[in-house]
Amino acid sequence: TTQQWQQLDAAHHLHPFSDMGSLNRAGSRVITHAEGVYLWDSEGNKIIDGMAGLWCVNVGYGRKELADAAQKQMLELPYYNTFFKTTHPPVIELSHELAQLTPEGFNHFFYCNSGSEGNDTVLRIVHQYWAAQGQASKRYVISRHNAYHGSTIAGGSLGGMGYMHEQMPSRVPHIVHIGQPYWFGEGEGQTPAEFGLARAAELEARILELGAENVAAFIGEPFQGAGGVIFPPDNYWPEIERICRKYNLLLVADEVIGGFGRTGEWFAHQHFGFKPDLMTLAKGLTSGYVPMGAVAIQDHVAQTLIAGGDFNHGLTYSGHPVAAAVALANIAILRDDGVIDTVKHDTGPYFQKSLREALAASPIIGEIQGHGLVAGMQLSPQAGSQTRFENGGDIGLICRDHCFANNLIMRATGDRMLLSPPLVISRSEIDELVEKAARCLRLTAEGLGY
Ligand code: PLP
Repeated sequence: TTQQWQQLDAAHHLHPFSDMGSLNRAGSRVITHAEGVYLWDSEGNKIIDGMAGLWCVNVGYGRKELADAAQKQMLELPYYNTFFKTTHPPVIELSHELAQLTPEGFNHFFYCNSGSEGNDTVLRIVHQYWAAQGQASKRYVISRHNAYHGSTIAGGSLGGMGYMHEQMPSRVPHIVHIGQPYWFGEGEGQTPAEFGLARAAELEARILELGAENVAAFIGEPFQGAGGVIFPPDNYWPEIERICRKYNLLLVADEVIGGFGRTGEWFAHQHFGFKPDLMTLAKGLTSGYVPMGAVAIQDHVAQTLIAGGDFNHGLTYSGHPVAAAVALANIAILRDDGVIDTVKHDTGPYFQKSLREALAASPIIGEIQGHGLVAGMQLSPQAGSQTRFENGGDIGLICRDHCFANNLIMRATGDRMLLSPPLVISRSEIDELVEKAARCLRLTAEGLGY
């Protein structure tokens, strides 16, 4: 029964990013199966998944092609490693495929199991690159407050989440953070364009403070995901790119959420119009069906690494054949079914328009950001203003409770509500998603006395 599952879960399972005390009191929701954009729980409730799991189930649930690819590969070659001059067909084919679909110059790929490991790998590559260039003093990596780059020690150190740093007394050194490009409530008296330039100028100021000869790289999510779906002003990324080039920094795009179609482009940096040297990939690479991460590497970096001798980094499951086979099947769906084109030209614009129309009259929405199939809704005590609730985080959780009761998965991040559904969502499913999100925000507002 549900109750037995909940008891066993509470007895033996330590959940990620959870307050276990409160979970144990309430009991976790037990998800038993899924199809398309819907989940079912052990009580038989049908839930619309507005978050594609953790921003990852891009092709939706229940795709037989992916299960078949995994089964076939498991029977043929369930595992072999890619250390010590061995390789296998799935990882070769996947690398070839990724070289075709990533932007020009990305022709080499290093594999791991997650976005966090991808960012650990980025750090390793960045340091190896500058050492091979004879510039080992280039050691600092600049990131941003409120960034999320994973939960390993390196991922958490690169990220800019204060609440994580507090629990990490031993963070990776030589990582510093600048302000996030979040205009709402932070850019008072400035236009978004002025604010975008001001936030990018913080990068230049920090480089000059540290000395360009000591700074190796800048890392950022093209749009911040876990930080609240924060889309920077249009001029921000081109300016960041200009500064990185001027001071000879590697520019790293963490595409763990943005990659594989979320904004209607294959990679989110293409939406923002800049060209990174390295990209971290995970999540949508396999649509979450099996774990896999990767780092995509531009030619000039790859050539330096190749010429530089041993690269002493790797994981037992780097390039796992089953994960690679699933990634290939997943990419085939995204490409051959025109999933990303549909997001760009049809469902993405439809979702953005529907959401804005449905929430136009909401008294507690300050601003909606997003593009394609991802959106962040800023809670505010005065609709359309740039003010924030003092207890916005609590209000987000109240809204999330309404979502729970209404069989909708919508994420609360502080005082922002987030949506990022599977990319295969249809127009009628978008109608349902938006109607439920609007209902839950209305119930939240009513509870606050609006
Ligand atoms: N980078 C970004 C931008 C992410 O959103 C995440 C996870 O949400 C990660 C890295 C870490 O990925 P993983 O949880 O697979 O380690």
